[in-house]
Amino acid sequence: MALVQLQNVSKTYLMGEVSVQSLKDVELEINEQTFVSFVGPSGSGKTTLLNLIGCLDKPTSGEISVDNTLVNHFNSKEAALFRGKHLGFIFQNFNLLSVLTAYENVEYPLIMVQNVPAEKRRERVLYYLNAVGMADQKDKFPSQLSGGQKQRVAVARALVADPKLVLADEPTANLDHVSAYKVIELMRKMQNELKTTFIFSTHDPKIVKEAEIVYSLEDGKIVNKQIN
Ligand code: ADP
Ligand code: MG
Repeated sequence: MALVQLQNVSKTYLMGEVSVQSLKDVELEINEQTFVSFVGPSGSGKTTLLNLIGCLDKPTSGEISVDNTLVNHFNSKEAALFRGKHLGFIFQNFNLLSVLTAYENVEYPLIMVQNVPAEKRRERVLYYLNAVGMADQKDKFPSQLSGGQKQRVAVARALVADPKLVLADEPTANLDHVSAYKVIELMRKMQNELKTTFIFSTHDPKIVKEAEIVYSLEDGKIVNKQIN
């Protein structure tokens, strides 16, 4: 079975009297160990789709399974547990905790979610900081790092708890072209090495070429699937 499966998924937001349908009857299957991108203009439904797969929101109708688990009926506690165990997230604004060093930011999920013992934790954190090329910057605070460096730390943080799936909503939107490309390359490298599935969204056609499979969205629908 596919790692991610959506059947007939729709999402409608109510804004007062007005309803906005941000996803319309989406059918999707994403296999394990793939590097996938959602591309489309602003408002096409990329964030909604990632949020549904990431158990951050629920569909109005349809079924979603992630790693053989039906997730669309989760309550908020079940969703949080599932995210902690199976998913990693990378954000457009990096979302590093400003009072923690790079090292502590990467360590955070292992303390908060997984309760990994100290020795093992240190090993894991250093391994991932090294893998993203940030070991020598580990004691710096986010304010002392460039955007590209912050996103490298965020990639390490997303991977440290060994998730099956990493979701990245416009991870390069706040980066210059060179850093953006490097971050995507890094995600690709990590995907290759760890066999983690990555799904990232972007509206940048240059970056999309790096994905193995590209789904194009328009007005809440998947209108094209391209295999690179
Ligand atoms: P994208 O990430 O591709 O820009 P979104 O998924 O954010 O697209 O949005 C898709 C559509 O759903 C847009 O029309 C947007 O205005 C609407 N939408 C998204 N989130 C909400 C929300 N929380 N409340 C109301 N409308 C929303
Ligand atoms: Mg978005």
